[in-house]
Amino acid sequence: MKDFSLDIYRKLLEALQRQGYELIGYADYLKAKSQERSAKRFVILRHDVDAKPLNSLMTAQIEHSLGAKATYYFRVGKESNNPSVVKAIVQLGHEIGYHYEDMSLCGGDVNQAWSHFRTWLDYFRQYYAVETICMHGAPTSKWDNKDLWKQFDYKTLGIIGEPYLDTDFSDVFYLTDTGRCWDGYRVSVRDKIPQYQDEWTKTGLTWHTTKQLLDAIEQGRLPKHVMMTTHPQRWTNSKGAWIKELVLQNMKNIVKKLWIRN
Ligand SMILES: [Zn+2]
Repeated sequence: MKDFSLDIYRKLLEALQRQGYELIGYADYLKAKSQERSAKRFVILRHDVDAKPLNSLMTAQIEHSLGAKATYYFRVGKESNNPSVVKAIVQLGHEIGYHYEDMSLCGGDVNQAWSHFRTWLDYFRQYYAVETICMHGAPTSKWDNKDLWKQFDYKTLGIIGEPYLDTDFSDVFYLTDTGRCWDGYRVSVRDKIPQYQDEWTKTGLTWHTTKQLLDAIEQGRLPKHVMMTTHPQRWTNSKGAWIKELVLQNMKNIVKKLWIRN
């Protein structure tokens, strides 16, 4: 079975469910009482809709058919923000959040970024009562979008959490498909959890392909509490799109490696 296909994505979710993991959205995690949280096995399904929103509709349908819930974070640009897709994903019972990049879009002007943030939060709230937000971490941008929170507080707007800032990573293991593999944190500038990643790597919690991850799940080697971030634009069953995504990601990883060295 091809990696990063919708077929293997479904297999991944099914394997998690067989192992007793509940598949939940980010707001569900934040709202669960700590006692409940520690007793259960769960995987927070987080999707960053960076591009190709229609692909997100495909993963959302697969999750819905399995009784799973996920959180989809949308960007403001047309490459992500497709109102029909947002509405359809809401209909499927998932959580919607704002994939913010206001600092980058406003050239680092923090007051302008705050105003831009509020405008777009209201925009997404037309479709869903957004409670969580997540930064978009473009490796090529010189701005860290989280810097907005050095001056402002999203909690004043009824936002209850941001995955990078409000997740207890001493308890929740982090997995991401950044770089179109499961160990892309090596070449990622922003999508990683620096204080815990070394520990996880040391204890062998690292896999390259989805097949390797699947085997680990089936052997009961995955920690009890997990956040799994995927970018649905990479997950496709169409052959042409699949090859394009593979070539593009390999190129990007090479560029990122060079960029980190400098
Ligand atoms: Zn993103």
